[in-house]
Formats: sequence, structure tokens, C-alpha cells
Amino acid sequence: MPLEVRDVTVRFAGLTALDGVSFTVAPGTVHAVIGPNGAGKSTCFNVLSGVYRATSGSVRYGDAELTALTPHRIAALGVARTFQNIALSRHLPVVDNLMLGRHRLTKAGFVAAGLRLPAARGEAVRHRARVAEIAEFVGIGGLLATPVGLLPYGVQKRVELARALCMEPRLLLLDEPVAGMNGGERAEIAELITAVRDSLGISIVLVEHDMGVVMRLADQVTVLDFGRRIADGPPAEVQGDPQVIRAYLGA
Ligand code: ADP
Ligand code: MG
Repeated sequence: MPLEVRDVTVRFAGLTALDGVSFTVAPGTVHAVIGPNGAGKSTCFNVLSGVYRATSGSVRYGDAELTALTPHRIAALGVARTFQNIALSRHLPVVDNLMLGRHRLTKAGFVAAGLRLPAARGEAVRHRARVAEIAEFVGIGGLLATPVGLLPYGVQKRVELARALCMEPRLLLLDEPVAGMNGGERAEIAELITAVRDSLGISIVLVEHDMGVVMRLADQVTVLDFGRRIADGPPAEVQGDPQVIRAYLGA
């Protein structure tokens, strides 16, 4: 189902971070939200994932109005996100970080699991098998026992992606997934994101600064500048838009 962002405004004391922004994410597509620093991209994500409350406007996902829901409820609807700055438990091994991603799917609950009740044990085994499968898909299958803090930055970003996938989302929100990576790593992650769309059928909203990655990956692009939408369309179209070029050159 589509995600429909309608006329969303977010004001902080004395500052309008998003100003009447609208766009629609079609099912099974990669939709990029781009723009210069401070344009409102992360704010947009924080609204979609329930971290920030919109001052006005609506975000529809199926029958649900996301602006009225807590982050927990939004996640339960199958909307998972990653953060611009990695938010993993560095001292825990990869597998534990990924198991935390399955929290919302754990019927028996963590208390039962902690008490090692039989039902919880069976469930934990199934979760571990699925976690291993997802780790394999993301290319970190051999690293399940390694503490996250010991992994190179680019690999940690993969762990973050895997953790979000462990929630079995229908919609995945990625905040700057290739930030801080070198050219080779960027290309690999771009390929991986395409595979998430094509093999897993997950819709993706992507905030990204790197234009090259966006042009390669995105089916549709929304461009923000100073909280306003200045362009919306397929990458090739948006790339040549004079207003977009001006925003990026800072003119
Ligand atoms: P981007 O991700 O595009 O770089 P942000 O969404 O982080 O931009 O920020 C947009 C604007 O909103 C910036 O001017 C930023 O300083 C401001 N902003 C973001 N979050 C907050 C907040 N919690 N409180 C006050 N101002 C904020
Ligand atoms: Mg940001």
C-alpha cells in the first residue's frame, strides 16, 4: 500500500523545519528524499517514524494515520527505520543486535524467553534461523558472533540494515545508508537496497546526500530545500531541474 505524506509542517521554536511537504511512496519502489544539509530530511523521517509530531498535515499508510501513533505502533504496522548515526549496541554481538530487531514479532515475550519457557524456546529457535537468513542476505552471515563495536563502519551500517529487516517490514526508512562509506562500499549498499526492493518486495524511503547513489537507485525523488518541496519526479527529470541545481550549488 502507498504511503501518503500530505501537507506536513513541522515547527520548532522559531524555525519551520518542514513547510507543507507532500509526496506519495508507491508500493514496491525506492523513493528518495534529498536536499542540502538542514533541508528537513531527517525531520521528515522523524515524522514518518513517529519520533517527531507534525505541527499539521497527515501521513496515511493504508488505513492508519501515522501522525497520531507512537514509534512503537508505527513499527508494529511494518514500518522500520535506520538512523543517520548508527544506533546499535556496540558491546553485543551482531546476532543479539539482530534479535532485538525481532522484538515486535516475539509473541511469547522477552520475560518468557528469559525464563526459558518451552514455547518461548521454540520461538527463539525460529527467530534465530530467520536472523541467520537475513544476515546472509545482507552479507554479514559470518559475523553473527562478533561484537558490533569491533566491525568496520561500513559493516556496521549493514548490521543496521539487517536489524531493520529483522522486523519484517513492508516499508523501510533508511537515513543516509551510505554516509561515511567509500565508493566501492556505496555501490555494494546500493545493490543491496535494490535487492531488498526486488527480492523482498519491500518499499523503501531513502534519505541520501549522495546524488550518484540516488540517481542509480531511486524510482522517484522528492527534493527539499529549507523545509519546502522544490521538485518531485523520476531521477533523470529532477536532476536537470534548475531549482534543484541551484539548491545544490547553494546559489
Ligand atoms: P537534514 O536532515 O535535511 O540535514 P534536519 O531535518 O536535520 O535536516 O533539520 C532541518 C532543520 O530543523 C534544521 O535547521 C535543524 O537545525 C532543525 N531541527 C531539526 N531537529 C530539531 C529539533 N529537535 N529542535 C530544533 N530544531 C531542529
Ligand atoms: Mg539529516
